[in-house]
Amino acid sequence: MLYQNPNVRYFFFYIFLISLASVRAQDNQAIVDTTFIDIKMLSSEVILDMKYATADNFLKVAVYDCEACYLRKIAAEALVAANKDVAQKGYRIKLFDCYRPLDIQKKMWKIVPNPDYVADPAKGSLHNRGLAVDLTLIDENGNELDMGTNFDHFGPESEFAYRNISKEARRNRKLLNKIMERHGFKVLKSEWWHYNYQMPQKAAVSNFKWECDQGNMQDK
Ligand SMILES: [Zn+2]
Repeated sequence: MLYQNPNVRYFFFYIFLISLASVRAQDNQAIVDTTFIDIKMLSSEVILDMKYATADNFLKVAVYDCEACYLRKIAAEALVAANKDVAQKGYRIKLFDCYRPLDIQKKMWKIVPNPDYVADPAKGSLHNRGLAVDLTLIDENGNELDMGTNFDHFGPESEFAYRNISKEARRNRKLLNKIMERHGFKVLKSEWWHYNYQMPQKAAVSNFKWECDQGNMQDK
């Protein structure tokens, strides 16, 4: 019998070990890529202006206890790379929102239960998966570039391809888009500021919550 030959048995055992190791390696890679990471741990160059940690948003209330931008590691690293890229043109990325815990999504839905404005928590959004960012570009003086509308402006003017905005605003939207696409993000057509990180297998919706300390607590 073939299997009674010890060399053949060792051969199959060896193949088994190799396949086991490669499955483990893939698992580990997935865990590493989808770990939540504070963007500030990766770069101090990215600017935060987390609107939902203040009342300066369309809900008119703060829904986060403190300001922080968490993303899945793979998306966070891509965003930092995008920021380095745009820095060569003298600009920086300014973030309005990143990962949003599912409980916060529910809170927002309770305030505005309208799918035109807030994603239904029953479905969850890419923000709840740690794979979406809301952002703009700022110049060397910290001024936001003209993008045609403000962040969270609800109306056709916010559509990425909307044409009836100034030439400069169109150019700025395209610049942001070019940089983000280069680093694996895709714009949400209805919101020029919203980008989804593209990965074959989406990370799960999460309710992980970050710690707040004196440094990032908001004055309410
Ligand atoms: Zn968004």
